[in-house]
Amino acid sequence: MQIYSPVQQISFQSLTSVYVKRDDLIDPYISGNKWRKLKYILQDVALKGKNHLVTFGGAYSNHLVATAAASVRAGLKATAFIRGEQVENEMLLLCKLFGMQLIFTDRESYKDKQQLFNSHFGNDNQAYFIDEGGASEEAVKGCAEIITELTSHFDYIFCAAGTGTTAAGLLKGINEKQLATQLHVIPVLKGGDFIAAEISKYESDVSKLHLHTDYHFGGYAKTTPELLQFMKAFIAETGMLIDPVYTAKLFYAIYDLAQKNYFKKDAKILALHTGGLLGILGMKEKLFQV
Ligand SMILES: *Cc1c(COP(=O)(O)O)cnc(C)c1O
Repeated sequence: MQIYSPVQQISFQSLTSVYVKRDDLIDPYISGNKWRKLKYILQDVALKGKNHLVTFGGAYSNHLVATAAASVRAGLKATAFIRGEQVENEMLLLCKLFGMQLIFTDRESYKDKQQLFNSHFGNDNQAYFIDEGGASEEAVKGCAEIITELTSHFDYIFCAAGTGTTAAGLLKGINEKQLATQLHVIPVLKGGDFIAAEISKYESDVSKLHLHTDYHFGGYAKTTPELLQFMKAFIAETGMLIDPVYTAKLFYAIYDLAQKNYFKKDAKILALHTGGLLGILGMKEKLFQV
């Protein structure tokens, strides 16, 4: 399938040499890295002749919306186990409209995903297990393709990380092509050092990996007035939307590192826009205040 994900140069205040790989433009619902991750999962589903995707996520998961949209287009059924008590929000509404079945699951039961799958769908040989966020070898393979699409050299590639699967794919792509490019990863969770171990499950050579663990702004889906101010100024100046959970933290980190003269002179920096723009809807009250 043909996709549209150009590399564009952006300019924000003193940042003038940053390029962005616009995976956010691939699709509004199967967005960014979630499209990359699902690509080979869906191929595996077709290969195994399954017709029912079963997956997992929080109530604001971009992965759930992506899986819901992708399932309809591929002519498949989809079910999601949602962590926590029943809620109604924009993301889950989209999932429902795409025909996904939602099963709200208490936090204790949610911990054992395989058990949940077995107890509900153990007898359904059409059911296909997709881990939270789509994390899998297939996902890593899909994300590695981002590197093969690049037509010029970059000294630094930056991405945001939740599970690290996307970063693992990028690193695999860099290693396979033997590029001198260094991969810089911004964990959006507190205590992001665990991402290195996650990445090394998929890619053993981590010599080009650099983690920046101080840009979580309090933790997953947490923000500060400073981050939201940055996000607002960035969008208004570049015309490119970013989201408060992942990509705002990514671009803040690049901006902050540039301010601190972290980059060598004339370096070419590429940021991966992983999409997730529906995350803006989950923070609309806060964003209206800034
Ligand atoms: C899910 C998501 C990520 C995190 O990807 P991982 O592979 O889990 O590290 C990053 N950015 C956006 C916009 C996402 O939706």
